Amino acid sequence: DDAIRIEGLRKTYASGKQALKGIDLNVPRGSIFGLLGPNGAGKSTLINILAGLVVKSAGKVSIWGWDQDRNPRQSRASIGVMPQELNLDPFFSPRGALEVQAGLYGVPKRDRRTDEILELVGLEDKAEAYARTLSGGMRRRLLLGKALVHNPHILVLDEPTAGVDIELRQMLWRNVRRLNRERGMTIILTTHYLEEAEEMCDEIAIINHGEVAARDSTANLLGNI
Ligand code: ADP
Ligand code: ADP
Repeated sequence: DDAIRIEGLRKTYASGKQALKGIDLNVPRGSIFGLLGPNGAGKSTLINILAGLVVKSAGKVSIWGWDQDRNPRQSRASIGVMPQELNLDPFFSPRGALEVQAGLYGVPKRDRRTDEILELVGLEDKAEAYARTLSGGMRRRLLLGKALVHNPHILVLDEPTAGVDIELRQMLWRNVRRLNRERGMTIILTTHYLEEAEEMCDEIAIINHGEVAARDSTANLLGNI
């Protein structure tokens, strides 16, 4: 079975903009899958639909075998999303933010792995700091941590390394590979950096003007460029 199955997915915003024009895509379980494409291609729209943050206009989405319309709760529980925006509630420390997030997902107190997650993303020394005192890099680390609190099967990262310094980029890449290899987590990431997709991904779909322009193994797709 696939981690994600998408059939005939369309999104037209209230403005009339057709952001997705009939996407068919499957993401195999256990893979690191890249969504590549220029700004405005529809990548964030696609991810926000997977995350349940944007309502699709038409089509079918299954997440870890759960139909998003028929089993919204199970679909949502199967996926964790690290968003692009660095919005965080300014009144919560990293520890507090992770606890709140775990509460939102209904993770029982005994099953919370807050310290483990703080350590994984390298925020153990900032566990009690206020979010508004965190640098952009630390916010990204916290957003990654928040995506992991419910131990999802699938981790989605929206432009995780856009405008990020080399140290944080390498931390993100290392963590993503570890989550994939050690926990078998399926990873989906969007990027407009070719070299990032080439370095990280097993398979790639190129999105352009709201359509899948190409989809193949990274070697086949980028090997000849
Ligand atoms: P909707 O998703 O129903 O269009 P939003 O509140 O998201 O409503 O957006 C309201 C309006 O703001 C949109 O109709 C659009 O004109 C504009 N807008 C918001 N985000 C974007 C964006 N990323 N690109 C272009 N226009 C946007
Ligand atoms: P990408 O992530 O590939 O840059 P997006 O999914 O953000 O692409 O955007 C796809 C298209 O939809 C763009 O033309 C964008 O301006 C438009 N768009 C995104 N969000 C909204 C919105 N809320 N309302 C109207 N248009 C939007």
